[in-house]
Amino acid sequence: MALMFSNSRSSDALRQVGSAEVNPADLRPAIFLDKDGTLVRDIPYNVDPERLEFYPDVFPGLQRLDAAGYSLIVITNQAGVARGYFPESALATLQVCFQQRFQDAGVALTGFYYCPHHPQGIVADYTLSCNCRKPQPGLLYRAAQQHGIDLSRSWLIGDILNDVEAGRAAGCRTILIHNGNETEWLLSPLRLPHHIVSCFAEAVPVILALAAVEFTSARNFGYGSSLL
Ligand SMILES: [Mg+2]
Ligand SMILES: [Zn+2]
Repeated sequence: MALMFSNSRSSDALRQVGSAEVNPADLRPAIFLDKDGTLVRDIPYNVDPERLEFYPDVFPGLQRLDAAGYSLIVITNQAGVARGYFPESALATLQVCFQQRFQDAGVALTGFYYCPHHPQGIVADYTLSCNCRKPQPGLLYRAAQQHGIDLSRSWLIGDILNDVEAGRAAGCRTILIHNGNETEWLLSPLRLPHHIVSCFAEAVPVILALAAVEFTSARNFGYGSSLL
């Protein structure tokens, strides 16, 4: 249920991952991005590209992360498919729109992964308990394998604790954008964000500062920092 962009880099990475020859140094870090309420204003079950409203600080932030070498990968729950609100093909259209908007901003969108399932859906094919609906980490694992991602150097940015849980479960660090969308605050060790910020722009210097610390630590002492 993932839409992948084919390019030689990802197919090379795919060949490497899963083979004994994979060199951890060849893996790239990623930023896993929740969509609704994180990149775009949350309009429930919207798949109309005309109504996509990116937050104004998103692309300036993504440009800095892209320049710092992070692969940018969208990870989104789209239970509207299982609920019969829209066909899965609508997500292909939405993905093309995302790809175009990223391209217009000069940043690469490495992948757009969605979970179309829901345990209480009405469309039989999509009505199931899956391992890809956040808080499950299935989509992150799939993206990591298909694009040669080092999960331990990667981050997830989301606006609810189910995003955080998926990120932590996959071994990533996590940032919660505290914008009012999380309302239940059911905390547990897996759901505790590493950092809490108030908008997308504030997440970026956290990631870049820690990457700089770890780079310095690795250079000076020959190992990566485990500050967090
Ligand atoms: Mg969200
Ligand atoms: Zn799923």
